Amino acid sequence: MDTMKPSRRQFLGGAAALLVSGGRLGEIASVDAQSAQAATPARDLLLVNGQIHTMDGTNRVVSQVVIRNGRFAAVGNNVGAQGGNLQKVDLRGRTVIPGLIDAHDHIVLVGNRPGWHTPLEHVFTIPDAIAELKTRANDVPQDGIISTIGPISAMQFAEGRLPNLTELDAVPRAVYLQAAQGGTRTNSRGKAWLEARGVMVAADGSIAGQGTGTALLAMRKELLNAETRKRSAYDALLYYAKLGITTHRDGGAFHSEELSGGLANENTYTMHDPFRALHREGRLPARLRIDFLHQDPPNANPPLPTLGPRLRNSFPFFGDEWLKTGGIGEFTGGGLDGLRAIAKAGWRGEDHALNLAGATTLIANREMVNAEIPIGNLRWIISHIPNFPIELANRANALGIGVLVGWGPTRTGMNVGPPYRMLMEHAIHKGYHSDGGDITVINPWLNFSTMITGRNLAGQQILGDQVLTRQETLWLATAANKWFIWEDDIGSIEVGNHADLAVLDRDYFTIPDADLRRIRSLLTIVGGRVVHNVGVV
Ligand SMILES: [Zn+2]
Repeated sequence: MDTMKPSRRQFLGGAAALLVSGGRLGEIASVDAQSAQAATPARDLLLVNGQIHTMDGTNRVVSQVVIRNGRFAAVGNNVGAQGGNLQKVDLRGRTVIPGLIDAHDHIVLVGNRPGWHTPLEHVFTIPDAIAELKTRANDVPQDGIISTIGPISAMQFAEGRLPNLTELDAVPRAVYLQAAQGGTRTNSRGKAWLEARGVMVAADGSIAGQGTGTALLAMRKELLNAETRKRSAYDALLYYAKLGITTHRDGGAFHSEELSGGLANENTYTMHDPFRALHREGRLPARLRIDFLHQDPPNANPPLPTLGPRLRNSFPFFGDEWLKTGGIGEFTGGGLDGLRAIAKAGWRGEDHALNLAGATTLIANREMVNAEIPIGNLRWIISHIPNFPIELANRANALGIGVLVGWGPTRTGMNVGPPYRMLMEHAIHKGYHSDGGDITVINPWLNFSTMITGRNLAGQQILGDQVLTRQETLWLATAANKWFIWEDDIGSIEVGNHADLAVLDRDYFTIPDADLRRIRSLLTIVGGRVVHNVGVV
């Protein structure tokens, strides 16, 4: 247990670094010092001169909104009179969208990563990655380890690979990169730290096979504690807020009672603690919706050893606008009995499908359960659905099931799905999810780029004719996701809704396809709180 406590020096070093990092709010990997240290109050604002895409029922585009008490109080082209003495902000013609909803990712895993976790989903060359890591080093004490674990892929770099040891040595701290695709790399400082803990590191800084698990376990044992987890949770939410995400629905993790070396493993009973701590302190920079992942084996004795107690002893959709529980997923576990128990308890259930056979079985099982206990009003979800023919869409829709699509930019192959175009023209409920955090990236613009162009991060065509328009893509990640979050007052800019929006650094609707992946937010507002601002307000 001793090894899990932070050294006093480490902790003080971190606090001091935060104090000096103010003023670089444009640096996406660094922390906004001010908001990191204090609760952010909601502000009353009059935004004017924007291209505000409301994503309301008629896709209205307006120029002004009033934000009062955390909600949109007026939306239109001449609402200034209702502005009173509000702070007026000139958006200078910039594009504004509702805050994005990622309806299934693994932000809680990302928020529990060991080290000074530094997402790198917005850089596309190795020199840019090194520059970002060098900037991050300013926040990190001498003996700290800069890490990027999970949502990063070799495919995103023009070089088609991760940086090697020599390149990473330009960063004046230990660096550890463990990518969803493309392997694991460290630099000389990291190599020394890891080799002292029995991890084999090759001369180019790569770590292969079981070495990665050993490395991750060592980092978790020595670097994680309540404070560092809270720092990672805050940094993770803030990073994606800088990319426009204001609501995450978390799809859970594989449960490990003890610390584990698995990328997708965490203690699913305690991993929300850092997010709950941020919530208590009024510092959440985005909304979090929590689903509970269960993996009870079918026919266990006693039956449903973890799902049963969960359904008896906890509450679905309980919490407040910032932090709220949801349903069971992205695994329900327990076979048909698990589904029956969830239906009987009146909870939402979600499972993912990785191929046609899997999707077919999920639908058939739900048809069986629905014949005994109707699930039509419970908004059950099937996610991923790479191969999902219209016949399955018809059957899922008849059950009242919705499907989540996305998870594209790091996939390879021809026509790998999901069939976006077919689904868009189908009556079935559909929404957007990245599924990012351990197996792929979360950056919505990387996902949108794939949905619009059909191309993965390496530029290969993977969707064939199943692509979407920009408007359709944005709709999936905003208004369409209301159904999946089960909340009507986010996902569009309408009077009475929570004031969640992003002011983009370029016009999503008109920029060339090649620039879609580079979009960032200049100003992100969540519930009237300015959580990210690059000189707009
Ligand atoms: Zn997932």
